[in-house]
Amino acid sequence: MIITKRRLNPVEIKTPRVFCIGMNYRAHVAEMKGKIPERPVVFLKPYTSLVRENQDLVFPSDQGAIHHEIELVVLIGKSGKNICAGDAEDHIAGITLGLDLTLRDVQRDLKQRGLPWEISKGFDGSAPIGRIMPYTHTMNLHDISMQCTVNGELRQQGHTGDMIFTVAQLIEHLSTIWQLEEHDLIFTGTPPGVGPLKPGDHIAVESPDTGQFTWKVIS
Ligand code: ZN
Repeated sequence: MIITKRRLNPVEIKTPRVFCIGMNYRAHVAEMKGKIPERPVVFLKPYTSLVRENQDLVFPSDQGAIHHEIELVVLIGKSGKNICAGDAEDHIAGITLGLDLTLRDVQRDLKQRGLPWEISKGFDGSAPIGRIMPYTHTMNLHDISMQCTVNGELRQQGHTGDMIFTVAQLIEHLSTIWQLEEHDLIFTGTPPGVGPLKPGDHIAVESPDTGQFTWKVIS
């Protein structure tokens, strides 16, 4: 495992996989008019969806609304299969914030037709991500505040204490399905307040635990 004080840029890591968790905050499930999941809702994005901070965001055109979803992102530092929740922290190398950008109209249509979500979630540029803050055991992953602003207007405010499945439970669950590998990323779900972005918007995500990261929407 790479242990470094330098704040890694996830785009340079060439992460093997980007796991994402849907419906992990009750208030977001409510705004999506969904049902509280009994098990984590999992999907993946290709690593080519990652966009480093300060890069321009260029989106697919004529696909309807694109929504921002601020999320705590966890970087895996040590591989493992069937990791129990109690050992999960030993497998974490770092944390940051990211955006799970979603083509909401496309997703709604796919959901209604019972089809997979990938093309609404995994398109190029769909996962802007900040630099990684090295994880230390003094961090409390369930006491992290985060907020997302667009053009200075507060859109999302969340706290990881409100997660339905904790980071440790997510690592346990994912590792029963896949062997987790060094440099895998996990987007852990979004708090409420998701909403549309448009060309020219400046979007910022920030947390006292990770710092602030910004992007500009070009098209
Ligand atoms: Zn999400």
